[in-house]
Amino acid sequence: MPAAKQKKRIAIFGSTGSIGTQALDVIRSHNELFEVEILTAHSNAELLIEQALEFEPNAVLIGDEAKYEMLKTALVSKNIKVFAGEKALEELADFNTYDIMLAAIVGFAGLKPTLKAVSKGKMVALANKETLVVAGDIVMQTALEHRAPIIPVDSEHSAIFQCLVGESRNPIEKIILTASGGPFLGKKPNFLVNVKRDHALQHPNWSMGAKITIDSATLMNKGLEMIEAKWLFNLKPEQVEVVIHQQSVIHSMVQFQDGSIKAQMGLPDMKLPIQYALGFPHRIKNEFPRFSFRKYPNLSFEEPDFKTFRNLGLAIQALKAGGNTACVLNAANEIAVWAFLKNRIGFLDITAVVEKTIEKINFIQKPSLEEYFESDGEARNFAASIIKL
Ligand code: NAD
Ligand code: MG
Repeated sequence: MPAAKQKKRIAIFGSTGSIGTQALDVIRSHNELFEVEILTAHSNAELLIEQALEFEPNAVLIGDEAKYEMLKTALVSKNIKVFAGEKALEELADFNTYDIMLAAIVGFAGLKPTLKAVSKGKMVALANKETLVVAGDIVMQTALEHRAPIIPVDSEHSAIFQCLVGESRNPIEKIILTASGGPFLGKKPNFLVNVKRDHALQHPNWSMGAKITIDSATLMNKGLEMIEAKWLFNLKPEQVEVVIHQQSVIHSMVQFQDGSIKAQMGLPDMKLPIQYALGFPHRIKNEFPRFSFRKYPNLSFEEPDFKTFRNLGLAIQALKAGGNTACVLNAANEIAVWAFLKNRIGFLDITAVVEKTIEKINFIQKPSLEEYFESDGEARNFAASIIKL
């Protein structure tokens, strides 16, 4: 670990995405505290080059190997190591030269590099919720064994984490995850059946990557977050509750054994939880817009519509079943969301694909890492076969 005054060296896995670019905004505003050590992207070489020229990291990686030459040529005058191919993600995660990995890759692809960082005892600022959904038991056990702190970036989990500061001896009775309800709050299946991609991509409160935006519209995002919360905070399924809170200013709540509830509030801006995770345990002064009660005279809370948004029920089923069920749910959902984004299936078909895939794939009570990978692969193949991809 660096001495107190040394800058924290940040490795951003998924630097060209919504979380990645906002993290770079935070780092840019606090270059006295942070420096960039590693940047990785899937295919957006243009943006990765721009970021690399500005932040001059030690190493960059592009997933798409066809873009290697372009990246290499653009950075030839800089002393930056250039890598290509998804396999090299783990190689970069194995570097000793960073202090914090910001895990901001979307989906299952984030699991391997994050697990590598954790197995090296690195601090991980975790945005990639799918990592815990797929293999939460293995990731948390590895983190424990190697004393790797995992600081959540997901706003709900950051809220809970913040509420728990100073409460380590006080058991949690339950946590209450808030959900905005997404763009289709109050809608019924007869409306949802005709929903198209562009409409589903318009989230009322948050601007995010495409996959999580669709997950927010189907409420799968909240289901994935329930599973994420179980692993992060070591909870039983019945200790995780969801409430629809349209304004998205209460980011989540913790109820303790005396019935007291702590909430964390703020404007819906992911830069806040990103900054909190990178700065932890310190809070960093910033100029972000401040919350005003005058602009929010009414805060509302309501029960989710489980009948319409059936993904939430499927995720709860996976949360209770344990084993490889959440891994299968996640894989099927990734395929189904991808197909919906390509206009290949309808909005309600996403749930049908996930449900059928969970029914089909064999249950494994205590999967090894290899078995998680196998379950993921089988679930993807089956989901793709019913969509006829
Ligand atoms: P995004 O799609 O905007 O960005 C994803 C990043 O991952 C990009 O840099 C992309 O190049 C990279 N990537 C994509 N596929 C990859 C692959 N197969 N291999 C390697 N890299 C790959 O996504 P996002 O909205 O920034 O979300 C990132 C993660 O953070 C997700 O797991 C999401 O659930 C979580 N999260 C996001 C938000 C948000 O506000 N965007 C909030 C909470 C949690
Ligand atoms: Mg969230």
